Parts: sequence; structure tokens; C-alpha cells
Amino acid sequence: MSARIIDGKLIAASIRERLRDTVAAFTQTTGVTPKLAAVLVGEDPASQVYVRNKEQACTKAGILSEVHRLDEATTQADLLRFVARLNNDPSVHGILVQLPLPKHIHQITVLDAIHPLKDVDCFHPENVGLLFQNRPRFLPCTPQGIQVLIRESGTAVNGAHVVVLGRSEIVGKPVGIMLLQKGETANATVTICHRGTRNLPEVTRSADILIAAIGRPEFVTQDMVRKDAVVIDVGINRQNNKLVGDVAFESVSQIASAITPVPGGVGPMTIAMLLENTLSAARLALKNT
Ligand code: NAD
Repeated sequence: MSARIIDGKLIAASIRERLRDTVAAFTQTTGVTPKLAAVLVGEDPASQVYVRNKEQACTKAGILSEVHRLDEATTQADLLRFVARLNNDPSVHGILVQLPLPKHIHQITVLDAIHPLKDVDCFHPENVGLLFQNRPRFLPCTPQGIQVLIRESGTAVNGAHVVVLGRSEIVGKPVGIMLLQKGETANATVTICHRGTRNLPEVTRSADILIAAIGRPEFVTQDMVRKDAVVIDVGINRQNNKLVGDVAFESVSQIASAITPVPGGVGPMTIAMLLENTLSAARLALKNT
């Protein structure tokens, strides 16, 4: 049997359509148009595509967007000054520093410098702390997108065993925490795996819901997946000029009950969630003035 496809592109499109109406209503009642400022340092081709996609998505949703393209040689001090300027600009509600940054810049120092109320990626320790205590200010975009995909696919999370492959600060760790918390589309028993995990296939085979976020092309093979599991593939890997996920889609979809494709799964959701967070940031700014 072939798995049901969880169509992230379609789900994200309907979220963005709803959001456009919500943004329009917000702007009409408050006179404020939400604005996202993105900072891109250097010429990384993938980052350029991501930033362009985010910019277009903002425009379509009625959110203002400004992209600041800084030279590869920008110093850390200059970048910090730039972030401070955006922090102090009341017309900017959300700030996004596109990763990765050039090697001479300490990523964490820069992310920590973003004002927590404008931290639409939810990377600031204050926001991560609030998330871990289940009183989030923002939800991180990719994990939030994954949670919405699981919800929209009708998968029961309460009491399920979720196995997350990968423990990054951006995806693995926060998505594990979010699905572990008490709440809707949550309350799961969560296992987070990484390079040091013993008997990995045994662990992944025990998952009702398997989330792969490791950045290894087609790493998850059929023998690592339990029959009828729900599989969420976060990976974006370029292989022979083609985008592939962390899951061997063809074979795994033979035994999974539902699966996200790459592209067209988690990726479009991440952008939709960024737009939602920018609107939330604009609401927060109003509340705090
Ligand atoms: P990362 O490199 O920061 O973290 C990878 C994690 O996977 C690490 O914790 C590492 O321990 C673990 N890992 C690596 N190889 C492993 C192995 N063989 N066995 C077990 N664990 C292993 O990556 P990230 O930022 O979390 O991204 C993961 C993937 O998701 C990448 O392909 C990235 O491009 C993609 N991604 C997609 C989106 C999206 O919107 N779709 C967003 C963020 C990241």
C-alpha cells in the first residue's frame, strides 16, 4: 500500500490565504502594517533563494518586507550595529538574520542581539526558555510547521511515540519539546536521536510518528520505519541536481500510512509560519506601546 501524501504546499497555501485576510483586518483596525526585516550577509545561493521566497510570501500576505543584503566582508561589530538599528526601528516588527552567516561571524552572538519581541525565528534564549516552559511567545517556524502538518493530516499525537532524528536547535530539539508538552497536537512520548544513538533503526522502528531532520539524503530507509507510521521529512538535500529529503521516499511510502514529500512538505510550511509570527510580533509591538 502506498502512503497518503501530506501536502504541505496545499496546507501552507490555505494558511497564507487566511492570513492575508487577517493581516488586512489588522491593518485596517490598527493602521499598522506588519513589517519583516531580513538580513542576508554574503552570497550563499541557497540563502538568496530562501530570502527571496520569504520576501515574495510577505508581499502576497500584505506584510511589508525589507531585505538588507550586506557584503560577505561585513564585520561582526557592523552586523551587530545593524541589528541594533532594526531593534530600535518601531516600523520593523520582525527581524530575521538568514543563516548560515560567514565563518568570521559568531552566529549565536548575532542571534542573541535580536530583540526578543522581534525574534520571529524564536532563536533568542528568552523565547526558547518560554517555549520550554510551555508558555511560548513565538513558536519556531519549522517545528510549528511540522506540528500543523501533523494536525492537518489527522494524526493522533496524544500518547503516541514520536521519534525525532536530529537534535539541532532549529528543528530537532524544539519540535521534540513542542510535541512533548501538554496541549493539542502534543502530549506525545518523545525520543530524540542523534549521531550517538545506539541501535538507531530499532529506535526509529518504534515510532508512531517519525520526524527526520538530519540533512542526510535518503538516510531513513524502509527497514527503519514501522508499518503504518506517519513520516515527516524535514531534510532538504541536493543530490544529482535534484532536491531529496532525509527519507528514501519511494520505499518508505510503501509502508508508512502518511508521508510528507520533498519538496512540497515541510518547506512551504516554514514560510507560512514565519508570516504568522511577523503578524504576532506586530500585535506584540502594539501591546507594548
Ligand atoms: P543540523 O545539521 O543543525 O543538525 C543535524 C542533526 O542531525 C544533528 O543533531 C546531528 O546529530 C544529527 N545527525 C546527523 N547525522 C546523523 C546520523 N547519521 N544519525 C543520527 N543523527 C544524525 O541540521 P538542521 O538545521 O536541523 O537541518 C536538518 C535538515 O533539515 C537539513 O537538511 C536542512 O536543510 C533541513 N531543514 C529544512 C527546513 C525546512 O523548512 N524544510 C528548515 C530547517 C532545516
